[in-house]
Amino acid sequence: MDLKKVLTSERTITGKKALKTAFANYTLNRGKALQKIDEKTLKEQLKKIKENSLSNLDNLKRKAIENLKEQKIQVFEAKDAKEACKIALELIPKKETLVKTKSNTIEEIKLLEKLKGRNEVIETDCGDFLLQLCDEEPSHPVTPALHIPIEKITQKIKEKYKEKVEEDPEKIVEWVMKFLRKKILNGNIGLTGANVISSDGAIFILENEGNISLVSRIPEKHIIITGIDKIVPTIHDGMVICQASAIWGTGATLPTYINVISSPSRTADIQKKLVYGAQGTKEVYLILVDNGRSEMIKQGFGELLHCINCGSCLYFCPTYRQIFNKYGLHYIGGRGIGMTLFQEGVKKAFDNGLYFCTTCQLCKENCPLEIDIPKLTRKLRKMSIEKGLETPVNEKMMGNIRVMGNPFGEELKEGKIPKELFCC
Ligand code: SF4
Repeated sequence: MDLKKVLTSERTITGKKALKTAFANYTLNRGKALQKIDEKTLKEQLKKIKENSLSNLDNLKRKAIENLKEQKIQVFEAKDAKEACKIALELIPKKETLVKTKSNTIEEIKLLEKLKGRNEVIETDCGDFLLQLCDEEPSHPVTPALHIPIEKITQKIKEKYKEKVEEDPEKIVEWVMKFLRKKILNGNIGLTGANVISSDGAIFILENEGNISLVSRIPEKHIIITGIDKIVPTIHDGMVICQASAIWGTGATLPTYINVISSPSRTADIQKKLVYGAQGTKEVYLILVDNGRSEMIKQGFGELLHCINCGSCLYFCPTYRQIFNKYGLHYIGGRGIGMTLFQEGVKKAFDNGLYFCTTCQLCKENCPLEIDIPKLTRKLRKMSIEKGLETPVNEKMMGNIRVMGNPFGEELKEGKIPKELFCC
């Protein structure tokens, strides 16, 4: 990666300006939200739920599958990204229009690449739609279009749709929502991720915009793709995660909507006969993706799967604040590097920022689960060194130690500060 190019790009410069405002609003709102709750208790509850869930994952997964199937949701298990895409493509007939909502798991398995030229995919989350419109990459998991300047958005709307929209967030949102509403009403298949699956048979999908409510109800078919790490024991545990996701994700005390799906739409209004397919979706499919997660748990990196993907850590991360999504791959930041290593291999993790973490601990301090990303990053680096992947700086430092007995590469004299300092 050419870091100099990334740092001096227009995208980074405008992104940094936008981040300043976003960060100020976020910290203010989150502070207010945290005053209304017992933060310590919520954090303890969260930690307990995630630890308990991951240590019983096989049992909970089996239970969730049994319950969801009984409730007429068809569940598939995919061991990796390839298998997940294969299952999804079998469920998606060619040429059907998909209406999609934001999902990191769908990014992770690279399903959109497979759908290119095969199906029309409409992004229905405002941020993702703006990325699609401006042909941009996401810069944050919760607010992916954070870096796009407002004038670029109105310009693109004019170019692509020949419509003039004022450079005012309210006007743009109004235009986007009207445009998307028509698309959603005509969509054949709804494609979403999920925030939580409770083993007692509920799928939670959180949102603020209302697009997920529509996408998961209006088309006849709803396909949900998510990781096995989203499984927790009960619906009550799911609600705890929903509350934390809102507070640490957006600074709101609760998300605007919590979609809890436990079966396709149904009615028993005629002679008590249960009929599936009422006003809402007729068919619901869930693809549970492993893709390296079991291996992460096995190799002692399960803590990374405690993540609820709120993106709080990123606002504080000094590396993210400089280069945005160029730190990580499908998942951004230090936690994303861990996911990359287990999903795409150590070389990809190395190339996408394994050594970018400063180990400052700010992520851990601002994470609702206090995930120790710096500690886990050191462990990941050890794995990369074992595979012979080292940074030039580290190699130089090691060479200096061997030759000079110190990392500076020159003899240390009292009062003389070495020209270069190296750090692992
Ligand atoms: S690591 Fe923690 S702060 Fe960062 S996205 Fe995950 S849960 Fe949120």
